[in-house]
Amino acid sequence: IQTILLKNRPKGKPSTSDFELINEDIDESLKNGQILLETTFISVDPYLRGRMRDEKSYVPPFELNKPVSSGIIAKVVDSKNDKFSIDDYVSGRLDWKTHQISNGEGLLKVDAQKAPLSAYLGILGMTGLTAYCGLTQIGKPKAGETLVVSGAAGAVGSVVGQIGKILGLTVIGIAGSDEKIDLLKSKFGFDQGINYNTTDDMKTALSIAAPNGVDIYFDNVGGPISEAILFHINTFARIINCGAISVYNDTELPKSISVQPFLIKNSALMQGFIVSNYEDTFPEAMKQLSEWLAKEKLTYSETIVNGFENTPKAFINLFDGKNKGKMVVEV
Ligand code: NDP
Repeated sequence: IQTILLKNRPKGKPSTSDFELINEDIDESLKNGQILLETTFISVDPYLRGRMRDEKSYVPPFELNKPVSSGIIAKVVDSKNDKFSIDDYVSGRLDWKTHQISNGEGLLKVDAQKAPLSAYLGILGMTGLTAYCGLTQIGKPKAGETLVVSGAAGAVGSVVGQIGKILGLTVIGIAGSDEKIDLLKSKFGFDQGINYNTTDDMKTALSIAAPNGVDIYFDNVGGPISEAILFHINTFARIINCGAISVYNDTELPKSISVQPFLIKNSALMQGFIVSNYEDTFPEAMKQLSEWLAKEKLTYSETIVNGFENTPKAFINLFDGKNKGKMVVEV
């Protein structure tokens, strides 16, 4: 079997040399309660960058020379556990290994007949839950309001924008290429898009795109893009701090403007968000997302990278915007 270890704590942008692929033997004889899993799809996510630093956070850091782990879909290839049968598919946080033994704890069965397996890592997994819970629980959208989404053509952002449209909002997306801006409008129904890589003056671009100001900002990127939005927020605006990918590789403390005056003068709310703290909303979110998907009110994009050995590269490519929608590795 093959395993990918974290070799070094990346300095700045991660590189493939921060990871190591090793071949190992696995004892396939199972004890009672155990299952043998064969990895099918691996989710690569920006938040994994945080776990590569040796610092306290909402999840413990990865250990050096130990496997990296993330959301994985795997096939049960042998079972001594009554809850799982051979040929079941499961999803859960598992190691970057081609095969592994589990006691089944924390694993959910997923139905390959109901949706493509990779969707359980995206729109029917953490991505969809993040978009739904963040937007509804902190954003508290009201029809007619204006929503701005950064990282808009990514996994979370593309779902946030579509939910915004379903709920009757005007939706403006910010993304890094003209191709992505076209996708936002043609596939995901966004009203407008701004390519931050070709826009010198984000403040002016936003005043044109959002003439009535911004009521909700779903922030996936942080940094200068998010600062520009502060100049346009309306009274009682809600800002969801979901992610800050633009600063995840920073090696020095960023020089940023003070957010307080913007929040004060607009009685605005800015709230940090971690999806795992919103478990109470998961049943409603899953029901609603599945329903919208079945009715084709929601759609999704995926960038599928082939080959287990390409998992580190797929992860690194998130920081270069190489993905449209959810980045997954097919093993
Ligand atoms: P995405 O699919 O959005 O992939 C990352 C995208 O970020 C890239 O495609 C790229 O798009 C954009 N990006 C990369 N570097 C920069 C930069 N310097 N400035 C602006 N944009 C950049 O990933 P996810 O949807 O999985 O995650 C989106 C955000 O949500 C991340 O910040 C992530 O950490 C966060 N998140 C938070 C969760 C929570 O519970 N709080 C849960 C899940 C995700 P482009 O071409 O447009 O630059």
